[in-house]
Amino acid sequence: TVSVVLFTNDLRLHDHPPLRAALGGDRQVVPLFVRDRAIEKAGFAVPNRSAFLADCLRDLDEGLRARGGRLIVRSGDVVRQTCAVAAEAGADEVHMAGEHTRYARHREDRLRAALEADGRRLYVHDGVVTAVEPGALTPAGSDHFAVFTPYFRRWNDHRPHEPLTAPRRVPVPDTVSSEPVPARSEVTGTSPALAAGGEKEGRKRLTAWLRGAATAYDTRHDDLAGDATSRLSPHLHFGTLSAAEAVHRARRAGGPGAEAFVRQVCWRDFHRQVLAARPACADRDYRTRHDQWRTDETAADDIEAWKQGMTGYPIVDAAMRQLAHEGWMHNRGRLLTASFLAKTLYVDWRIGARHFLSLLVDGDIANNQLNWQWVAGTGTDSRPNRVLNPVIQGKRYDPDGAYVRRWVPELAGVEGPAIHEPWKLPPGRRPRQDYPDPIVDLAEGLARFRRARDLD
Ligand code: FAD
Repeated sequence: TVSVVLFTNDLRLHDHPPLRAALGGDRQVVPLFVRDRAIEKAGFAVPNRSAFLADCLRDLDEGLRARGGRLIVRSGDVVRQTCAVAAEAGADEVHMAGEHTRYARHREDRLRAALEADGRRLYVHDGVVTAVEPGALTPAGSDHFAVFTPYFRRWNDHRPHEPLTAPRRVPVPDTVSSEPVPARSEVTGTSPALAAGGEKEGRKRLTAWLRGAATAYDTRHDDLAGDATSRLSPHLHFGTLSAAEAVHRARRAGGPGAEAFVRQVCWRDFHRQVLAARPACADRDYRTRHDQWRTDETAADDIEAWKQGMTGYPIVDAAMRQLAHEGWMHNRGRLLTASFLAKTLYVDWRIGARHFLSLLVDGDIANNQLNWQWVAGTGTDSRPNRVLNPVIQGKRYDPDGAYVRRWVPELAGVEGPAIHEPWKLPPGRRPRQDYPDPIVDLAEGLARFRRARDLD
């Protein structure tokens, strides 16, 4: 007997409940990945994530080959392709991970109906994408938590499953044909310093992280220049690392750094349980503030300056340039650039979220859209109208200016914290001519935002 395992964003062999279930009772398995045309057409398969994905698929194929199997790759409509592969292999069941976006739910419903029409069964497994499944924890009287701290308390008491080991052998029938596994080199237009993908890379990174920098994470996570976070987000997004296993191993490592890291991984589950309960919040306000976002021509110029890292606020520009160069941005950078766009410039958060998704290697509907909403004050933040001042943020989280100097070469010659206000420098110490003056006065930006939200 044969089962198909449909991989989506769970591209690993360790701690993989669908694979474990499919291999039960001496079954053969068809490990399948479908290059889903609908995701490509929706514009979600941007170069940075496609290149990282190619690494992940290559590594998954190698891992399967080392276990006597191989990865089967197909392209097209994910439901049609999965049904076709199941028919070719004579499989009677398909296993996959549960996911929570609107698209993933629709995919699951279509797949179940199509398989059942052919006399086959779909098994959807919990606890593959998140450490704690959305819906597993709910407050009295609601289908989800809207406040993080009480969610975290319950989440922290709820132990995820013990991580599963990778199977020793994965017997795959020879009869099923595969397209070539895509190569990273086929993808053009990627960020120059994009991270490498794949399960081996993700596991290596987790091990090195827990042995090293994690120990100081509680005190250093906001240090922009120190770059002291795990950079595991793309691995968690593509599932080359299981969130349950990351939590489990960090708890075993122990200490305040590892505990702070676990709390951060909980944020990921928190946003997913909000999105699972309110899938429309991928593009609709979770809580409307009746914003009339700017749409005039000057807004278009401001948006462009923000995207290019040319706002004249060095910390904002440094972070936006890191995003373009690496396809990744430090969390503190994400917070302050998002606040700058949505609040200081009063531009619709959806425009910023779309730009982030066009570049982020960890670009993720739940984390990106709901963090943007959190910052814009249309989401779950209990202080929806706070505005981050980029000069204060710069001085606090990049006190010596090393992060700005790394990303904004026009200011490389400016020493110390003065770098955060280059317009105040005496003429002899001014930055090069090609660095712009601020595109907005912070007090005016704040006043516009407060007027728009009726706060005065
Ligand atoms: P670490 O600090 O090492 O944290 C460990 C893990 O915890 C991360 O890998 C991530 O999975 C999770 N995590 C940390 N902070 C958050 C958070 N605020 N919300 C949810 N999960 C978190 N994260 C994404 O994975 N994809 C996105 O598309 C994304 N977009 C964002 C957009 C905005 C505007 C903001 C403010 C944050 C966004 N984040 C997103 C959350 C966070 O910035 C990144 O997860 C983090 O910077 C990744 O770096 P790291 O792996 O080194 O994180």
